[in-house]
Amino acid sequence: MMQSPQRTMGKNLHFIIIPPPFQGHINPSIQLTLKLASKGFTITFVNTHSTHDKITKTCDDDVFAGARESGLDIRYRTISDGFPLTFDRSLNREQFLEGRLHVYPAHVDELVGQLSGSDHPPTCLVVDTFSTWGSNIAWKYGLVYVSFWVQPALALTVYYHHELLKKNGHYGCTDTRKDTIDYIPGVRFLEPTDLISFFQETDTSTAMHRLIQKAFADVKNADIIICNTMEELEPEAISVLKEKQTVYTIGPLFPSQFTDQSVEMDLWPDSDCSRWLDSKPPGSVLYASFGSYAHSNKEDIRAIADGIMVSGVSFIWVLRPGVVNCEAVDYFPDGFHEIVGNIGLVVPWCKQKMVLSHSAVGGYLTHCGWNSILESIWVGVPLICFPLLGDQTINRKLVVDDWKIGINLCEGKFVSGDQVAERIKLVMNRETSHVLKKNIEQVRKTLENAVGSNGTSRVNFENFVDDVQARSFAKN
Ligand code: UDP
Repeated sequence: MMQSPQRTMGKNLHFIIIPPPFQGHINPSIQLTLKLASKGFTITFVNTHSTHDKITKTCDDDVFAGARESGLDIRYRTISDGFPLTFDRSLNREQFLEGRLHVYPAHVDELVGQLSGSDHPPTCLVVDTFSTWGSNIAWKYGLVYVSFWVQPALALTVYYHHELLKKNGHYGCTDTRKDTIDYIPGVRFLEPTDLISFFQETDTSTAMHRLIQKAFADVKNADIIICNTMEELEPEAISVLKEKQTVYTIGPLFPSQFTDQSVEMDLWPDSDCSRWLDSKPPGSVLYASFGSYAHSNKEDIRAIADGIMVSGVSFIWVLRPGVVNCEAVDYFPDGFHEIVGNIGLVVPWCKQKMVLSHSAVGGYLTHCGWNSILESIWVGVPLICFPLLGDQTINRKLVVDDWKIGINLCEGKFVSGDQVAERIKLVMNRETSHVLKKNIEQVRKTLENAVGSNGTSRVNFENFVDDVQARSFAKN
């Protein structure tokens, strides 16, 4: 194990933060970086060459330059993920995941080794919980190992206990097992259709399944788990996890003001929607987006477009390149193009937080990504849920069944235009959305309290920092 006299208590802490190359993981990692740097610590933020290549096409070459000018010690490094820049990571997901499992860790190891031999060596490694190599590398270089969870605690406890799904025959068996799951610690009950989508798939031999297996074995070796959620919001799941490991909930991790001043690393160039939104009455615009990673199919997109047309509401719809998994370019129903430009905007990417916080936006048709849910709660916009992948299915349960701040886009698997129109009208209508808005205000207050003075997330963040200091001192 490498040692250094520089590793002492206090300001000398040096965190390496390595998010996976996905928008929903990069965004909270930026916020964590800023929070830690604001306490006087050194941070090295690590992106892959491929992520760096994308963000330099959309934003400044050095997104932390402003933060650095204001005195924060944030360093920035890039490493290879093992694939050439021209390789399409979204289209070739299986191959890309194999690379993340078998090649990427060697590049991380090389970088951490270099940094460990520097004048100000790292003391703490913060890696996403979906990483499979955190404990090996942290141990090799004598670092405190922090696992960073960017989804709800409910999803974490299900991943954490997924061996129970295997034992009870609910793993990869949604076709045959319809009975309620009531044996996962911290989860009172869960319908099989609410399970994380990977556990619903019948082919469980994919790279993703192997990655999950390794990652959730590795998280058990973490010194500390930090989560982008709030104690008051998910008390049962969090208390179960705390029985097993040291867990700090420090969410919500986003800038307190949704302005264009915040540090962002957008993977796609955004379209400015603000002037268009300025021309719309309060609460009249539906915002629709399926996040940065999931794909949909052309039948569902067509049905949603149909429903939007029939509803007659104004809308902004983000359809990022490649979001529809088909070759066809035009999957919209007849007449859709005519209404775009008149009552709607279809854009490849936008500044979502700014769009959501605009007074013209009254509802969000969402894929149920966790960041998107938290952002929508923060600005009090009710949700229409269309979960596609991963934790999104279980996040839907939180939004619709538990907190009652949103509704389903459809019942069952099939999206129909008429049903979509009916659901949109329900959320966009002042009277029928009254209860949803009342509920979302309650949840919003919970978020606000958590980050307010003496709020749980604020206190937990301080305790997390103290804990890292004590552990790094003990390691040296
Ligand atoms: N986002 C954005 N512009 C868009 C769509 C999404 O800035 O047009 C941001 C959004 O604000 C959120 C992140 O991308 O912070 C998506 O994360 P989330 O967890 O919601 O979903 P994921 O992309 O991981 O599925």
